[in-house]
Amino acid sequence: MSENIRFTLLSHGYIENDLAWNLAVPFPASKSNRETKSRFIQLPSFSVLIEHPEIGYVLYDTGSCPGDEADRRPPETRELFPFYAGREEFLDRRLAELGLSPDDISVIVVSHMHWDHSGGLSFFSGTRAGQNIYVHKKDFMYGLTETHRTSSVVYAGGGYFRDNFEFEGLSYHLIEEDQELAKGLRLITLEGHTPGILGLVAELDSQTYIFPSDAVSMRKNYGPPAVFPGIVYDTLGFRRSIAKLNLLEKKYGAEFIFPHDPEQFASLKKAPYFYE
Ligand SMILES: [Zn+2]
Repeated sequence: MSENIRFTLLSHGYIENDLAWNLAVPFPASKSNRETKSRFIQLPSFSVLIEHPEIGYVLYDTGSCPGDEADRRPPETRELFPFYAGREEFLDRRLAELGLSPDDISVIVVSHMHWDHSGGLSFFSGTRAGQNIYVHKKDFMYGLTETHRTSSVVYAGGGYFRDNFEFEGLSYHLIEEDQELAKGLRLITLEGHTPGILGLVAELDSQTYIFPSDAVSMRKNYGPPAVFPGIVYDTLGFRRSIAKLNLLEKKYGAEFIFPHDPEQFASLKKAPYFYE
């Protein structure tokens, strides 16, 4: 049955970091090779703009906030996780390239509140979509606590920024269970990377796609066999997410689009191309 859901991928620059943050022990040392080297890799950052025939434009993630490529983030973070984006690559400009503005968006789903997914909320103060933001309750509560437990903390490791919880004129739906967002568009609750991640299932005419966000940041994490990431809040939660995604993959015959997989992202078409 035709739902006519379509989506496009909005590219928001790239992050660099040690591969070991994404894949645990990527180059194990051994008896005959006692000194191994790590690798500094480039990871894509992107959001997904979905056009739904009933509810209009839905954004899945928002990229970063202007300034995150410069001094909005503290020096130690910039050293370990440098981020590169031209001003034209941030969400507001990517929407403008499609003839859209933040006022044209109906709903925002933020997979989790880490800076590279929530920073683009800065463009939605006072907008309709800014009153209609879906986020996982456990992630929101954890990030809020981590960034506010002392008066001096602007950044609390693990990827949360105090400032990203304090954009003006926004309100959130705090989600704890799977739910249908609209026909053919389903929020799925995942975990592991943080206490809670909102994934998305989008049933297009041609194919069902699953966006697991950072619950599974690369295909190599998914496997089989599944490979733990180096950054993980809860390893057993990671395993539960993999098991849940295995079932959904079979149920829908779905394809995954991973959030930080350089090889996969290079193979995907970006805006203005729409998957449909
Ligand atoms: Zn991320």
